[in-house]
Amino acid sequence: MRKTKITVIGAGNVGATTAHRLAEGHLGDVVLVDVLEGVPQGKALDLYQAAPVVHHDCMVVGANDYDATAGSDIVVMTAGFARKPGMSRDDLQDANAKVVAECISRVVRKSRDSIIIMVTNPLDVMCEVARRVSGFPRERVVGMAGILDTARMRAFIAMEMGVSTESVFALVLGGHGDSMVPLPRYTTVSGVPITELLPKDRIDAIVQRTAQGGGEIVKLLKTGSAYYAPAAGVFEMVDSIVGDRKKVLPCSVYLQGEFGLKDVYIGVPAKLGAKGMEGVFDFKLTAEEKALLAKSAGDVASQAAKLPADLGKS
Ligand code: NAD
Repeated sequence: MRKTKITVIGAGNVGATTAHRLAEGHLGDVVLVDVLEGVPQGKALDLYQAAPVVHHDCMVVGANDYDATAGSDIVVMTAGFARKPGMSRDDLQDANAKVVAECISRVVRKSRDSIIIMVTNPLDVMCEVARRVSGFPRERVVGMAGILDTARMRAFIAMEMGVSTESVFALVLGGHGDSMVPLPRYTTVSGVPITELLPKDRIDAIVQRTAQGGGEIVKLLKTGSAYYAPAAGVFEMVDSIVGDRKKVLPCSVYLQGEFGLKDVYIGVPAKLGAKGMEGVFDFKLTAEEKALLAKSAGDVASQAAKLPADLGKS
């Protein structure tokens, strides 16, 4: 049986860290692509030279074109600009839409049956760019953000309560931006909702810090944005797909009526397996939660409306 082949586009912070995790996690052979000459080749060789020490058999190669990517099962798209202090994710839209359109149109010519995992920001709108340009069904174009947003919330709760992050489960819906929707009533420590464990002002503070996303990391780093936790989020999605594990993970999905929303990418719990996004976990929200999710979806839709109308039509 042939090993899974995974292309990671963008050999920057998120892309290289993702390639590192995928290879050392034994998930498949990795092709790292970037426009910078020598960078994907050099990082790939460095990653492969760790194999004898850390014991994995995954090949890692780097390239500036897409020949080596042919026949990929999964494509992880991380290429594009990252935020600098003072920038919102939406400020990246015009520049990154061009990068995503170019990279996705080139990669899908060589891998018609692949499953695309989008990472480039603004995430939900870039998923729409990839969907239009690839012409793939929604099952094969999903975005990574919800795992990161929920992981952040879990980490903050673990810090607040002095418990293991493993004992904390959280749920965050909505767009990967300021209007994301953390759901405290579905956020538990060993099954007990945090609404029964923490005072309201502490929960509000955690929700607010979660909704700021990686803004505080952008401020601390000054030169870029988060990448260790984002790469871990991509790893979990790839792992569920490669192993056909059917994990229910918060991902950006093109909704077709679920949660009362249509024709928009937004973060919801979805089952990931060998066919990609195999189903949305639709459940009843309170009126307040529904309104917050609708507002978040409205924000994504109005940003998506600014994309060039001819995207994916040539
Ligand atoms: P980075 O600057 O470290 O790396 C980006 C890489 O993309 C660079 O190496 C650059 O040369 C490459 N690139 C640019 N244009 C390209 C093209 N046309 N073809 C191939 N490669 C190209 O940035 P990063 O920190 O790795 O972040 C990458 C993207 O991921 C950003 O848009 C960032 O906002 C986003 N991001 C998303 C999440 C999420 O939760 N979805 C989390 C973190 C970062």
